[in-house]
Amino acid sequence: MLEGLSNNLQKALSKLKSKGKLTESDVQEAMREVRLALLAADVNVRVVKQFVDKVRERAIGQDVQKSLTPGQQVVKIVHEELASLMGGSEERLRMAAKPPTVVMLVGLQGAGKTTAAAKLALSFLKHQHRPLMAAADIYRPAAIHQLEVLGRQIDVPVFSLGTDVDPVDIAKGAMEEARKQGADVVIIDTAGRLHVDAPLMEELSRIHQVVPADELLLVVDAMTGQDAVHVAESFSQSLPVTGVILTKLDGDTRGGAALTVRAVTGKPIKFVGLGEKIEPLEVFHPDRLASRILG
Ligand code: GDP
Repeated sequence: MLEGLSNNLQKALSKLKSKGKLTESDVQEAMREVRLALLAADVNVRVVKQFVDKVRERAIGQDVQKSLTPGQQVVKIVHEELASLMGGSEERLRMAAKPPTVVMLVGLQGAGKTTAAAKLALSFLKHQHRPLMAAADIYRPAAIHQLEVLGRQIDVPVFSLGTDVDPVDIAKGAMEEARKQGADVVIIDTAGRLHVDAPLMEELSRIHQVVPADELLLVVDAMTGQDAVHVAESFSQSLPVTGVILTKLDGDTRGGAALTVRAVTGKPIKFVGLGEKIEPLEVFHPDRLASRILG
């Protein structure tokens, strides 16, 4: 995961680690390499600049110079700033005071929404909740079928009304069904498009107005790098997104989305998807990913 970034950053910092005392030009040189490593990983240019400026400012500060192992101190600063860039600490899901909790998943087609719905349902099952999934993608019968198949596989009920119906009614129906069945979480899988468009945003807003989501999670594909960040920006401007699920982080993604999405949109990454297999979603730990990147 993020091997290229990891190798380049470790290389950039390894020279510092072995030095007894650091000169300002040692730090400058390392920061130049850190900058290149981040740009090569498709991190947003503005984010790279802010990141490097912040690290440089801290790295040439008094505390580092006085430290017995200044190189290690700089690595520690990079670690802290990387974690902070990705949101600092992990973010928990907001649960409704009065169940059922509504989690609405939105995102472009192919981002991994339906897969994420099932994985999220499994996570809830693991924590003794009783989830129900709602199939609100009325444009693709295959999507409804896919959710039903996944539901059977993980033994989670799926509410659907076919394709000839307003998705708002599906969401409302799912809430009624959840109350009837005693489900305490409703996960709504919504329609996606190939590109962000106004009718989709309107439809999603209508669903959210009638069945307000406690969590409105945007599913984005990490493999698409900065495009994922642009998509996240567009969705966040139209909808009150509460967090991001970053999928396909298992692939050979360069890391740009993971490192940029929070800084650009202000929305925390709450979960990551690490494969096609239906397993509980992994809570995103910025600190652990930073450690993994820095080795
Ligand atoms: P949707 O159109 O947003 O509902 O996307 P799907 O859930 O149907 O996923 C699209 C494709 O991405 C499918 O082939 C999934 O198996 C695959 N996929 C979803 N999440 C992940 C992930 O975390 N890692 C990998 N490698 N593939 C994923």
